Amino acid sequence: MEKKFSAIVSDFDDTISFSRDSISAASLEILGKALPNSEVRKLIMPLNTMIDQEIIDRKGYDGNDRTKNVIYSLAYTKYSDRMIPNTIVIDYIKNHILSGFELVVLSARGEEFREETERALDMHSLKYSEIILPKDHTIKDEEWKLIEMEKLSKRYDSMILLEDKLENIQYIANNLKVKNLYAYLVEPSGELIRQDYINHFE
Ligand SMILES: [Mg+2]
Repeated sequence: MEKKFSAIVSDFDDTISFSRDSISAASLEILGKALPNSEVRKLIMPLNTMIDQEIIDRKGYDGNDRTKNVIYSLAYTKYSDRMIPNTIVIDYIKNHILSGFELVVLSARGEEFREETERALDMHSLKYSEIILPKDHTIKDEEWKLIEMEKLSKRYDSMILLEDKLENIQYIANNLKVKNLYAYLVEPSGELIRQDYINHFE
């Protein structure tokens, strides 16, 4: 009989670790404007959207993906010490590793941040079996994640997906026809909300 393998497939930013304050510090350096702190921001709009808006508002500034990449690069390197660990998710993952799950980190932050990501996971004492990062950003994050989840579903009999972007969960749930897929949305507070609709293939 085949051995059963289970995986926790976890996003990194704003799932295992809150990167909002690092991104905010980086945007201050690049855009020269202090964005609202994360408490206020939760009530307004996602930081991603705010940065897009800020770039659009500054006509003449090179309002394209490059600016955003510069901000994110700075956040993940120079300002990485401002990341705040999500202890709820970290404890949840650790408990599952103890009961036999393998941790696969699936993050769209990019291959160029592999070292920083490894270092952060080591710092939180999270034993991962794999870190999957995109080599480039030619396709949308959710499409890339779906392709990687499809590959993972060949190796694992059951998977728990942890993700802070609802649209990613919905996209994967609607397109990945596998059994035993469970998903939890990570709230800005760090709490996990079970997405029940995902289990209709069981
Ligand atoms: Mg995320």
